[in-house]
Amino acid sequence: MQITAPVFNIQGYSIHDGPGIRTTIFLKGCPLRCLWCANPESHSPLPQLMFYSGKCVGCGKCADVCPTKVITLQDNIAATNRALCISCGLCVNICPAEAREIVGKAMTVDEVMEKVLEDKLFIESSGGGITVSGGEPLMHPDFTEALLSTAKANGLHTAIESSCFASHSVIEQVFRYVDLGLLDIKHMDSAEHKRLTGVPNETILDNLRYIYHELNVPFMISLPIIPGCNDSHKNIEATAAFIANELGKDVCLRLLPYHRLGEAKNDSLGKDMNFSFSIPSAEHMQQLKNILESFGLQVQIGG
Ligand code: SF4
Ligand code: SF4
Repeated sequence: MQITAPVFNIQGYSIHDGPGIRTTIFLKGCPLRCLWCANPESHSPLPQLMFYSGKCVGCGKCADVCPTKVITLQDNIAATNRALCISCGLCVNICPAEAREIVGKAMTVDEVMEKVLEDKLFIESSGGGITVSGGEPLMHPDFTEALLSTAKANGLHTAIESSCFASHSVIEQVFRYVDLGLLDIKHMDSAEHKRLTGVPNETILDNLRYIYHELNVPFMISLPIIPGCNDSHKNIEATAAFIANELGKDVCLRLLPYHRLGEAKNDSLGKDMNFSFSIPSAEHMQQLKNILESFGLQVQIGG
């Protein structure tokens, strides 16, 4: 039997996830819970119901077919008791307004590769490849290893987007098939990192050193810039010092300004976040870029 992993999106023609035109495969499941996550539907490895309330026309067909009777109409909008939803998808199939969706489907490596190879001509002619993202691909090491090695056997460039929160053995298993890492640093203070993401940062920083010095796999560092969380000059300087002194100045950086895509997704998942972040100004992003560049680092704003 082939290995499977829960896939929640296969995005063709991606141009921000590594060189050239790429197909990005998003796996479900993540050990982190970053407060600003743009893909909250990736947190759980299980299939989940998403509900787009703005599309609902209040017809009640979903409530009629739901086997667990967890849908009720409230003010002509379908409300779901998600704690009892079994993600069977019957309501999705009957909804005339496309207001409901199940995210996450178990797929084999062959099924994913079949999709990827549909665009092989464009990928190859642009110098592109595949990028495995998430969620956290390292939560599915056997699948990710098999997918990356199969892509390489097909002559494709391989990249991985990862938080690097995993054991050395998992990193070693997967990164031998990685041509380029797109790796994050979210905060240099471990206690703050834990408050903002749910996990401390020691394992992550140790893995970055390991990948750079021992495995010699090239990577870029992404810094998500979240106002009020990790954008202080002190934290940016600490990040710059770590990269310049403990990794190398050949490691390029991407400064990724916060955006609000995840907020609407949290609504669709029925998660009440009770907070919001502001979007950093272009001027603020440039200031942070200047700080990083003063350490001799190569920095770009955006993906
Ligand atoms: S996915 Fe199934 S259990 Fe969940 S609300 Fe829809 S019909 Fe009911
Ligand atoms: S079937 Fe769709 S449109 Fe009708 S009540 Fe349910 S979610 Fe709303």
